[in-house]
This record gives sequence, C-alpha cells and structure tokens, in this order.
Amino acid sequence: MPVLVEYEAKMLLNAGAIPTPRSTIVTDSDLSEFFPVVLKSQVATGGRGKAGGIVLAHNQAEFSDARDKLFNLSIHGLRPSVLLAEEALAIEREFYLAIVIDRATAAIQIVAHKNGGVEVEANDAEGFFKINYIMASFETIGDQLADVYDLPSKALILRDLAKNLVKCFNKNDATLIEINPLVLTKDGRLVAADCKMTLDDDAAFRHPEWSFESDTYDTNFVTLNKNGTVATIANGAGLAMATVDAVVSAGHVPANFLDIGGSATTENVVAAFKKITAFSNVSTILINIFGGIVQCDTVAHAIVEAREQLPHLPRLVIRLSGNRSKEAAQILTVHNLQLHASLEDCLKELSQ
Ligand code: GDP
Ligand code: MN
Repeated sequence: MPVLVEYEAKMLLNAGAIPTPRSTIVTDSDLSEFFPVVLKSQVATGGRGKAGGIVLAHNQAEFSDARDKLFNLSIHGLRPSVLLAEEALAIEREFYLAIVIDRATAAIQIVAHKNGGVEVEANDAEGFFKINYIMASFETIGDQLADVYDLPSKALILRDLAKNLVKCFNKNDATLIEINPLVLTKDGRLVAADCKMTLDDDAAFRHPEWSFESDTYDTNFVTLNKNGTVATIANGAGLAMATVDAVVSAGHVPANFLDIGGSATTENVVAAFKKITAFSNVSTILINIFGGIVQCDTVAHAIVEAREQLPHLPRLVIRLSGNRSKEAAQILTVHNLQLHASLEDCLKELSQ
C-alpha cells in the first residue's frame, strides 16, 4: 500500500481543489524564495514535529542551517530525499479531518476533531466525530463540521471541503486521507497544513500515473506474509525464489520476495530495508546476492551505508558470492558483519 510523503499527498489535494499552503520542494543546495518559511522533512512517518523535523526560518542563513540539519536528521529510521518549504502559517486554530474506510460498515467515513495537531497524533484526544459517507448528506455535513469545530461562519466552506475530500479519496483509490492539522489561519483561511495519504495497491492497474517515492525501487518487491519472520533480498528472480524456498524449508516464515536486480546500490538497499522495517515480526534479513555483473564489494559497501542510515535494523545474515567476494568479506568484517560462503551456512545461522 503506497504511503505517500507529505508533498505527494498535497499534490493530490491540490488537484482536488483542497487548499494547502504555498510551497516549494527543496533539494540539498536550494535557497528559499520567501520568508518566513517552514521547512519540513519529507519522510513517510508522523511525529516529525516532535522529532525536530519541522523548522521555522526567517532568513537565508537560518534556512541553509535548517536545510542541512534536516537532510541529516533521521526520523524513526528514515531520512528525507527532499524537503518541503512552506509559507509559515499564522495559526489561529488546528483541527483534525480525515477520510477513512470503516470496515465494520464497509463505508467511507468522515472523522473530525476540534483539537487537531500533534496531540491527536499521539492519541491523547478523545471524542472524535464520525459519520458514514453513505449517511452523510452533503447539505448538512458542512453544518455538522462547523458544529464540531465551533466555526458557524465556515459551514459552506467546510461542506465544499468535505465534498472535495471524498471526491479526491475516490478518484485516487485512497484508503486513508488524514489532514492533521487542518489550520484556520488568523486571516480566516482553512488550509491543509499536513496530510497523510495511503492508496490501495490493488487499484494500481487503473492508475498508470502513479509514481511515488515509496515505490521507486520496489517494483520487484512482493509481500508474502505480513507476519513473516525472515525478510529476503536477492538478485535475479530465480535466486530470489530459491532464497524464499530455502527459508521455508528451514522452517521459517518468509515475509517477502525481493529481486533487487543488477544494481544493489545504497539507494536500492536503503529502499529495501525501509520496506522491510514495516514488517513488525521480521527478526532477520537474509541477503543472498551473486556477484556476476554486480561486484560483491560494491554490494557490501551499499549494505554498510544503508545500515548506517537505518540504525535499528533486524539482524543481517549475508551471503555474497562471486566477483570480488573476498574484498566484500573484508569490508563487512570491518563493520562487524559476517559474510557466509553459502546459503546453507545462512540457514544454519537463521536457526540459532
Ligand atoms: P507532523 O508532526 O509530522 O504531524 O507534522 P505537521 O506538519 O503536522 O506539523 C506539526 C506541527 O507543527 C503542527 O501541528 C503545527 O503546530 C506546527 N506547524 C506546521 N507548519 C506550521 C506553520 O507553517 N506555521 C506554524 N506556526 N506552525 C506550523
Ligand atoms: Mn501532522
């Protein structure tokens, strides 16, 4: 299920006529075109504010300082590939507004709370307003939300906002759109200051336009079991299948299949590790790579660097064989990782 990063989600909101703050994407050397500006780390996880991932800058010096810090700040094990620079909002109030799927009634549900912001994310809030879309008449939803937020003068705007959000949800085959906070600015605008959006993988076939950070590197990643205990990374579809089979015959439950292809670069390995860390029961990542075109020492470097970026990884059990595997062994040893000569050796280690 693609979980979009904030800027991707906000692009979809904009396309659906849902107001967001003025913004630009920032890469590692960009300067800001406006001030004051809020710089936001683009990692697919919540709680960025509390983790120091959202920084206000008043001038170019503060901006560059914040930019460099944010690119190096790891939040829940993730680092951003870009930042979002947004107009700093003069915040009057922060609300919560989400569209979810209510499984019990198989309906789209609108969820709202008058106190949005970081405390709702930490689950400190109670008393959510919930209404199923099938029962919600859009002639009254505006009044209901205005009631929840205590904003009687904004009923019409809230009605249009809810309508557009549901349209956006359906059009994009979303499974969740969460706007937290929905901000009332001091000059009376309602804007989506943050957005979390997840889309339905099973609908990918009707969205040739889908291309997101989360799936740039994982076209050959297949989830096998969400509760699996061993994750696998291999190169070549044949070796990847053989690796999964070996895990099964050793009596373990494989979480995934991944053919990382001919280029096990740091970026690809990091992307693979990130996907794997979403599996909460995985205790081992089994890496089985044959160095043919790709050289084993290159792969070893990629593994070491990826592990530095993601310090809270499960145990790594590694087999790299073929081209330059001796050099690979040396690199891994320096970083307290062991290289196993065969898949059998890996399986023995799995069972320890
Ligand atoms: P999250 O922590 O990952 O959910 O990131 P958010 O984008 O929701 O930001 C967290 C908090 O930072 C918000 O609830 C706001 O209180 C604050 N914040 C974010 N953007 C702005 C802004 O433009 N201006 C001001 N003053 N505060 C902001
Ligand atoms: Mn938020």
